[in-house]
Amino acid sequence: MPELPEVEWAARQLRRWLVGRRLEAVRGDAAARRIFRPGGPAGFARALTGARVEAVDRHGKQLLLTLRAAKGPAGVNAHLGMTGRWVRREAGEATPRHARLTLRLDDGAQVHYLDPRMFGRLRLVPGARFDRWPDLAALGPDPMEAPIDLIRLGARMRATRRAVKVALLDQALLAGVGNIHASEACWRARLDPRRRGDSLSAAEVARLARAIRASLRFGLAGLAALGDAPLVMVEEGGENTFHVYERAGARCRHAGCRGTVERLVQAQRSTYCCRGCQR
Ligand SMILES: [Zn+2]
Repeated sequence: MPELPEVEWAARQLRRWLVGRRLEAVRGDAAARRIFRPGGPAGFARALTGARVEAVDRHGKQLLLTLRAAKGPAGVNAHLGMTGRWVRREAGEATPRHARLTLRLDDGAQVHYLDPRMFGRLRLVPGARFDRWPDLAALGPDPMEAPIDLIRLGARMRATRRAVKVALLDQALLAGVGNIHASEACWRARLDPRRRGDSLSAAEVARLARAIRASLRFGLAGLAALGDAPLVMVEEGGENTFHVYERAGARCRHAGCRGTVERLVQAQRSTYCCRGCQR
């Protein structure tokens, strides 16, 4: 499932492909209404045909496109859900399977949003007023946009009895950290993911913040190396580049630790950790 690094990678691609381009034609898949809720694919196409893309931004796992349409600014809030991805095809190339939205650009290329399972979302944001968009207002700071505010993170952790790893999945805490990077960050910080948030010392909060940033940067570096090659997520059989995620039974990679990676279940999600070094 895409987390912050995958969405940042998508934002960089979309910026390259779309900014400054005019959308000659916009076609939504009529069978994919749930992606375009509220409103349908036809309304989406009507609002955006002829518009020019001015900016592609990201906050957490939310992609934010700002366009200039005939009637004024138009915004799109896109979320990849579980299986969403954006791809570019040159003029004349066939439309890929599971294309839910197709943008034909004024350079002849087509940019498609693919989503086999249709848990993603594409929503129009009136006037591109993202500052008034409730879904964004509910999100915490983005841990890649700026250094993590240790005072805020510490206060939030002190206020929760939830396990650290479960707390990290709350998008109001930090936007964009998902199941993979929550496990990876606890391992990097050598913190037991079952520790209660209110048990962390200030030093542990600082270690966790550094670990979150390191884990996300590591994920992004791996994606940047892919270029425009298709991304295959580890859940889909892609290469596992993570240190503990889906590595149950493997030797812990921390120098000097002789522990083994274990899988636990917390809040119905898998957690991977090493009891040898995570305290
Ligand atoms: Zn270990």
